[in-house]
Amino acid sequence: MAQVLDGKSVNQQILEELKPRIAALVARGRVPGLTVIRAGDDPASEIYVRNKVKTCRELGMLSEEILLPGTVTTAELLAHIQALNARDEIDGILVQMPLPTQVDSRAVLLAIHPSKDVDGFHPFNVGQLVANAPAPRSCTPAGVMEILRRNSIEIKGKHAVVVGRSDIVGKPMAFLLLHQHATVTICHSRTPDLPAVCHTADILVAAIGKPALLTRDFIRPGAVVIDVGINRLINRADVERIFRGDAGRLAAFDKRGQVIVGDVDPIDMAEFSSAYTPVPGGVGLLTIAMLMKNTVQIAERRVGAA
Ligand code: NAD
Repeated sequence: MAQVLDGKSVNQQILEELKPRIAALVARGRVPGLTVIRAGDDPASEIYVRNKVKTCRELGMLSEEILLPGTVTTAELLAHIQALNARDEIDGILVQMPLPTQVDSRAVLLAIHPSKDVDGFHPFNVGQLVANAPAPRSCTPAGVMEILRRNSIEIKGKHAVVVGRSDIVGKPMAFLLLHQHATVTICHSRTPDLPAVCHTADILVAAIGKPALLTRDFIRPGAVVIDVGINRLINRADVERIFRGDAGRLAAFDKRGQVIVGDVDPIDMAEFSSAYTPVPGGVGLLTIAMLMKNTVQIAERRVGAA
């Protein structure tokens, strides 16, 4: 039986560990503060931002949301960021993506001061990641590292295959694994014979955005499989095909009209891996916890406590 790498317990551990650190900052008169900027009315972004703000408040951190209209200009957004860069009580600035199409997203990203770049997306912090120097790390791959570490999964000397080369997941994931002494292969949409490459992985990370793309042919028996993908299935036939005979999932689909699946075939992953992150309930839960951790870490650095 494969071990289920439960994101919920890791999430709780991380949040619990933050509480005394936040209390120590508060005792010094320094409540850690995060501002999230959202533009337009993308429903998924609204849910993400609401959850980020809620978790901040539950931990006793300062949290603000700046909601801008979908017609916002690049100049208006830059003005907000400059104001936040100058505000002492704000440690982290996060701009929820995607931004409306008329906005120059790269200019916005570059405007966030690297010391307040809580997502770790600014080129300065990407450079720090490559150099293995301290800086905020991209939250989702950092969450994967927490799952691996807290489940005592050996990384040193292992072959890690990361499928996906995005700036927010695939690339930072590869560097984080490399710095823990894995031999890393990065695959993407143009990689020839993807199943054969994946089959050489001791640790297989899927960050693709294609429902259940990686099936048994991609998984070396006994590999550790980390499924970062979050895909919504809205056709019953897809649910039947992917969750073969899983009455619970079909019932969930019939009730809600959708179910979530990762980038790895859930049944094959449970059968062939030695350990895996379920979807939902795995990596997805960690992103907000790592955002909180980054905010606290920035606040500690700014008061000279770290
Ligand atoms: P992206 O679209 O930016 O990148 C996808 C990557 O997958 C690309 O590098 C592409 O080359 C690769 N790819 C696409 N099709 C492929 C194929 N057929 N074979 C091999 N590689 C292929 O996506 P992203 O932002 O990196 O997100 C990836 C997945 O992770 C998505 O499902 C997303 O929803 C999920 N995600 C989850 C979290 C979280 O858990 N909180 C956070 C971010 C992203």
